[in-house]
Amino acid sequence: MIRDHTLHLNAVDTQQLTRWMKSALAAGVQAGENPFGAAIFAVDGTQVVAANNTVNSTNNPAAHAEVNAIADASRSLGRSDLGGYWLLATAEPCPMCLSAAVIAGIRNIAFGANQVVVNEAGYGGLGICSRELANQFNCEIVLRGSILGNDCVRFLLNNRKPN
Ligand SMILES: [Zn+2]
Repeated sequence: MIRDHTLHLNAVDTQQLTRWMKSALAAGVQAGENPFGAAIFAVDGTQVVAANNTVNSTNNPAAHAEVNAIADASRSLGRSDLGGYWLLATAEPCPMCLSAAVIAGIRNIAFGANQVVVNEAGYGGLGICSRELANQFNCEIVLRGSILGNDCVRFLLNNRKPN
């Protein structure tokens, strides 16, 4: 189920999300790693964490930026419930990451580049976009795409997966 953000009284505006996305994007730039970044913010603008994808350095296929950010935030806050926080991701979350976020209680998610760009950069997904998946959940999710979109798209396309 997806809630239209315009109906959300506590909606964070696009300017705010754009500022937050810059942190996620900065975290995503890590030599030798896949080009994905994520960050978690409190609604008051406090940054909890920013993380990058560490699949290559850890040989852990599940070490996506969002999963790393969720784990780091939970450790840092000393709790596993991240309800009320925003997850920012430079690219549209894959089904694993979207599910991990929702399981962690996160209901507000913003991303930059969409899945089409992720595929174009060589990082194939599972063929299901985040909105499709979110619609299947039994809770309401606020999903905002194209935040700092041009920068996030450029970042991915300039760091395509090597053949
Ligand atoms: Zn993922």
